[in-house]
Amino acid sequence: MLLDRDGTLIEDVPYNGDPDKVRPVPGARAALDRLRAAGLRLAVVTNQSGLARGLFTEAQMRAVHARVERLLGPFDAWLVCPHDDGDGCGCRKPAPGLVHAAARELGTVPSRCVLVGDIGRDMTAASAAGASGILVPTPVTRPQEVAAAPQLAPDLPAAVAEILRRQAAVDPATYRPAGGRRVGTVLVVRADSAGDVLVTGPAIRAVAATAERVVLLCGPRGRAAAELLPGVDEIVEHRLPWIDPAPDPVDPADMRQLADRLAAVNADEAVVFTSFHQSPLPLALLLRLAGVRRVSAISDDYPGSLLDVRHRVPAGVPEPERALSLAAAAGFALADHDGPALRLRPAPAPPPEVGEPGYVVLHPGSAAQARGCPPELAERVARALTAAGHRVVVTGGPDERELTARVAGDVAVDLGGRTSLAGLAATVAGAGAVVVGNTGPAHLAAAHQVPVVSLFAPTVPFGQWGPWRVPTVRLGDAEAPCRDTRAARCPVPGHPCLAGVEPGQVLDGLRLLGVAPPVRPAPPVAGRGSGVPAGASTGGSG
Ligand SMILES: [Zn+2]
Repeated sequence: MLLDRDGTLIEDVPYNGDPDKVRPVPGARAALDRLRAAGLRLAVVTNQSGLARGLFTEAQMRAVHARVERLLGPFDAWLVCPHDDGDGCGCRKPAPGLVHAAARELGTVPSRCVLVGDIGRDMTAASAAGASGILVPTPVTRPQEVAAAPQLAPDLPAAVAEILRRQAAVDPATYRPAGGRRVGTVLVVRADSAGDVLVTGPAIRAVAATAERVVLLCGPRGRAAAELLPGVDEIVEHRLPWIDPAPDPVDPADMRQLADRLAAVNADEAVVFTSFHQSPLPLALLLRLAGVRRVSAISDDYPGSLLDVRHRVPAGVPEPERALSLAAAAGFALADHDGPALRLRPAPAPPPEVGEPGYVVLHPGSAAQARGCPPELAERVARALTAAGHRVVVTGGPDERELTARVAGDVAVDLGGRTSLAGLAATVAGAGAVVVGNTGPAHLAAAHQVPVVSLFAPTVPFGQWGPWRVPTVRLGDAEAPCRDTRAARCPVPGHPCLAGVEPGQVLDGLRLLGVAPPVRPAPPVAGRGSGVPAGASTGGSG
């Protein structure tokens, strides 16, 4: 648990070197004691440019910190950046250096940390390290920083309460006493698209940790992703018309066939995973018709006797964690050797034309146009990245070939329509970073721990759908009018949430993520190919 100091733990007194001016924010001591009692380790991560500017001494700062500990109790680590903006250090927030250092001091990794802070710099530093962030705004926090924050809380005690609530929500002991439950076959369901299936992966692994056999029911758009998930023993593919965005009419014969297929699975129980705007109840009825005795799902609608475990989750929880909490409510937890992260089956080798690992994958498209990168921006990003020395690989599905050819031009490798989802995952696995909208490949990157520059249209909440537990820089206008519309086609002329992004911001994002262009081989003295590996990117050489 990482905490910003000024404006978060104590009232912000600019460049304060006087212990007598330390004033904790209301409720801070009790909130921190709740965290300590829960066994969480605490670190303070704070920018103190007053040191660089000579406005107070290190001894004065230590006296201030001693006073903070007298008032708020002990912290396990203090991480201070003494530099100023012009110093180009890696620790001054929004750089992620302090978050990395704090995680090390606490004996963990950034993806297992939450940072609570009061300004955008805190949230950017947290995301860039792969940590979660919760913004507690003050009157001086800028509106665009509030809009862009992954999570919000009204004050420090509320942020702490939410962290503890979410921690309890993914622990089966919260719902029923611990005890060895023997489970044979579990039918898990995720009926929508590839990205949705990928973010359900940790919850499916939790089921697989206890169940002898896991059968996944998915739709045609999620099939390829389902095949990438560890823990899935069998796949049943069937389109559920009430989930599909372009639904066919419900065909009675098709529904009878689905009920028969479900009965043939012979499942002891079922766990139905859905997005927050989908209902699990039509399928729950079919599962009852198929004789499934125990059904668990998240449902705000009254389920009557359709669900045995009716789980409820407040808005704003990251999708993978939301699914994990349903698994926990149904009695399933990740194995001890496993952890809350997206994972995939081992990737095959990427296509040879991508060259050595370390390239940047630029994925401009999306099944939902509103979440894709505007093509003209993607073209400019490809050129800017190449000019900066990056090797760029442009990826896209079979129906995006025209787009990827245009974006790749003569500067990048064009893989549009030439990879399966497994091949795309392999390509992403070899990347130094991925530049992508809110769509499937962002989750492939998270699963391979490849940093993401996220061109995130705010049609759905970033904290819920952003890349999970992977170093990420968010770009785009979080206050754009498409915010929270869930639109598939951008409802605003000109797609302004992303059209205003400049390629330079993508380059800055890559720098913040520590992704540097590879050192280029010296130009060949004579002849062809010396120093350039066979199959290396055609972009940027020469
Ligand atoms: Zn620094």
